[in-house]
Amino acid sequence: MKTIYDYSYAQLEELMLQKGQKKYRAGQIFSWLYQKRVVSFDEMSDISHVFLEELKSEYVINPIEMIEKQVSKDKTVKYLFRLSDGALVESVLMHFDYGKSLCVTSQVGCNMGCRFCASGLLKKQRDCTSGEIVAQVMSVQKELDKTGDRLSHVVIMGTGEPFDNYDNVMNFCRTINHDKGLAIGARHITISTCGLVPMIERFAGEHVQYNLAISLHAPNNELRNQLMPVNQAYPIEVLMAALKKYSEENNRRLTFEYILLKGVNDSLEHAAQLASLIRGLNAYVNLIPYNAVDEHGFQSTDMKSAMKFYDALMKNRVKATLRAKHGDDIDAACGQLRAKRQGELK
Ligand code: SAH
Repeated sequence: MKTIYDYSYAQLEELMLQKGQKKYRAGQIFSWLYQKRVVSFDEMSDISHVFLEELKSEYVINPIEMIEKQVSKDKTVKYLFRLSDGALVESVLMHFDYGKSLCVTSQVGCNMGCRFCASGLLKKQRDCTSGEIVAQVMSVQKELDKTGDRLSHVVIMGTGEPFDNYDNVMNFCRTINHDKGLAIGARHITISTCGLVPMIERFAGEHVQYNLAISLHAPNNELRNQLMPVNQAYPIEVLMAALKKYSEENNRRLTFEYILLKGVNDSLEHAAQLASLIRGLNAYVNLIPYNAVDEHGFQSTDMKSAMKFYDALMKNRVKATLRAKHGDDIDAACGQLRAKRQGELK
């Protein structure tokens, strides 16, 4: 059955009209779902019994089941969910000094085939619906409600390529961002893409405030072609041109993600190449320690070399951060837990 979480506010208003209801019902339902965070339609006490029965016959509220939860030493929590067709997806809750951030999954599996990533170990089975992504956020928020905590940030960096599921991902963002939804600020929502240029262009044209992060991971085409097959379709110069246009049209700071892979992309020459690509853009580089995936054989750069890489960027007038590792004792790298369990459950 379809989940009511699939509907953005505007779509729910439309649905109410189709069902012969007043538009303002959408506001009531949104408030029950996202502010009071009910688990059943029966709790919606200001809506007529007859109409609730109609809704119940067509929709569920929560389409996912939490089947596993792993907590790491640094309190990072990894959740494994089962969708209604049995597919497994995962979300990761991270605690920062600026708030609590949830990393959500946008597709069941991934087709981008990045060589270092665990997600691609399982090919894409299907897209997540907007409501299935909303449900990941709601499940975790409901857990946090028990201690009076609130999710302040959402990053779409779990399994999947969000721009390969563009409409559902944008609908998801609208719902969690809506004032009557969870009201998570647009600037606290980050979409991360491996570089699907036509969708970056589309996104640029929407003039929304969500953050855009680009998984670059290599500063030249030769290396990026090897690590990320998407580069063969949209090489670096094409990607950078699209990003320059995005920047000019949106006045938003871009993030470049760069995993440091020992002996692969972490030399000072790579740092210089990276700096010359990025210098002048309103952007910074997020250097990410690699979470080793058994099947792939890559290793993370050691801290000393990572610092040297960071210094080289800064010397070349490119802002960077060196991200601390989160939850590497709980298979928190993209797709790791799911890849393991999928194997066991089959
Ligand atoms: N497809 C999107 C979003 C999902 S991946 C994208 O490519 O951006 C989110 C980020 O995690 C990407 O930068 C990805 O390259 C990175 N990542 C994947 N596997 C990783 C691993 N084992 N360790 C650290 N980061 C990883």
